[in-house]
Amino acid sequence: MPAIASRKSYRVGRSKTGLGLFATMPIKKGTRIIRYFGPILDCRIPEHDEIENKYLFELNGRWTIDGSVRKNLARYINHSCRPNAESDVRPRERKVFIRAIKNIEPGDEINYDYGSDYFKAYLKPIGCKCPSCENKRKKQRAEARAERAKVKARAERKAQKAGAKSLKKSTKKKKLNGHAVAKKSRARA
Ligand SMILES: [Zn+2]
Repeated sequence: MPAIASRKSYRVGRSKTGLGLFATMPIKKGTRIIRYFGPILDCRIPEHDEIENKYLFELNGRWTIDGSVRKNLARYINHSCRPNAESDVRPRERKVFIRAIKNIEPGDEINYDYGSDYFKAYLKPIGCKCPSCENKRKKQRAEARAERAKVKARAERKAQKAGAKSLKKSTKKKKLNGHAVAKKSRARA
């Protein structure tokens, strides 16, 4: 039997992307945190098959949980590409539980991987905002910044070298001119 958190170990709170579910106490790896629930839809019933919202959780080819009901607090759990929880799908029981796959600390946001279909349909077009993807983007921006700085420094060095060269040339010229002038004036004297 998997461990079940005895008291409510979560609360809905503000996350970066809106609302999210946060741990209110330490949650041990392997613990069932919350059940993802709602009316069970049967795709063979046309009225059911027509229902469309982003809280649909497909159990298998036939059964889907409509998680859009307000009481289903698990619907507040955001997606992450490097999550601390997972969905434990039990098609035969028509149940889904969200289970910790890491030790979760109080205050941590709880998240699980929504899967590639959801990612492609909803997250990829707007850019995934999960911490892992945000960090990746931050790193890429820093690398781009460093690259630009490198290019700029190289260009500056080049310009400096070119400047020094032309300065050398112009002083040489001046000397020559001075010499010429001096010669002429001497000749005139
Ligand atoms: Zn992501």
